[in-house]
Amino acid sequence: MAGPIKTEAIVLRSLRYGEADRILHCYTPGRGRIGAIAKGVRKTRSRFGGRLEPFFRLNLVLHEGRSDLMTVTSVETVAAYAALRVDGPALDSAARACDAVARLFDTTEPQPPVFHLLANELQLLDAGAGGVRGVSSHATHENQLAFRLKLLLVAGFAPQLSACASCGEADHLVGFSGAAGGVVCSSCEAGAFRLDQAAHTFLTDALAHPLAQVPNGVDGRALRQAERAIAETVEHHVGTHLRAATAR
Ligand SMILES: [Zn+2]
Repeated sequence: MAGPIKTEAIVLRSLRYGEADRILHCYTPGRGRIGAIAKGVRKTRSRFGGRLEPFFRLNLVLHEGRSDLMTVTSVETVAAYAALRVDGPALDSAARACDAVARLFDTTEPQPPVFHLLANELQLLDAGAGGVRGVSSHATHENQLAFRLKLLLVAGFAPQLSACASCGEADHLVGFSGAAGGVVCSSCEAGAFRLDQAAHTFLTDALAHPLAQVPNGVDGRALRQAERAIAETVEHHVGTHLRAATAR
């Protein structure tokens, strides 16, 4: 029988199960997405306390049994992100970020950069909680779209932005096509939707900058186009839909 498994993990979802148990969906650096059951955690004297909630970054010790679910045998908190939990917009952004990871990375294939990107995003949201959106708080539409773009980059699905994805033309880039794989020129725009310069610039900047430095104050129309470009890219490559990037 295999020995215990030690791993860092971020809790994406936490579901009640039976009388006193919880089932966790977690993202780990070395094992991708895993499912685990924590037994007896809803009893008042549970040694795991309230640490098995979404967004917690944990050190877990797991026991691999015969089922798909591993059993949690030990939990240690790495980061609780307490501040983001009491800031509505930050909490909402954290939930959307975890949901995007859950939908895009649904397997046990290890993708360490996904784990680090999510940890970085939660850290940013936590550090800026209570602040002014777009100034000190990162709970913005721009941040959420940049996070998704970076997830696509890690998955190898980042859209082509520097030249027409169909013919390679570098100028007259006027549209975006998820099927073509990125921006398209005026000769290739059949089947594409219009992408304004501001949206194109935002997509390029969001990929080029670290999450903490993604430009803010971007025009709403440009952000809606950027979100559509990301959604079409996800749909084309992964065949899934993401939740809207912001509450409307
Ligand atoms: Zn073209």
